[in-house]
Amino acid sequence: MIMKCPKCGFGMEKVSVKIEGAESKALSHQCLKCGFVEFEKDSAAIVLKELKAVKSPLRIKQKIVKLSSNRLGFYFNKNIVRSLKLSSGEEVFVSVPGKKHIILNLK
Ligand SMILES: [Zn+2]
Repeated sequence: MIMKCPKCGFGMEKVSVKIEGAESKALSHQCLKCGFVEFEKDSAAIVLKELKAVKSPLRIKQKIVKLSSNRLGFYFNKNIVRSLKLSSGEEVFVSVPGKKHIILNLK
């Protein structure tokens, strides 16, 4: 069944949209004529839930500190150290997937 666009009455195409940070895709209907987009409530709710789950437990604000003239760093606070069982000397892989993200992978 093809949904009709509430704006112009043209047929809408079902498109699944990948939202950054969420596992599931959000299902949307996009008008082929005027570009109107409507998300399916259920799938949008699932995506929102996933985003919240990712965000809430480990979102800690920290300051970057100066280590030496041209090196910056930051500390892992004790909650992170404890929950990930980190110890000094451990190696991590740093990747930068975008201008706003730094990902640390533990060995
Ligand atoms: Zn339309």
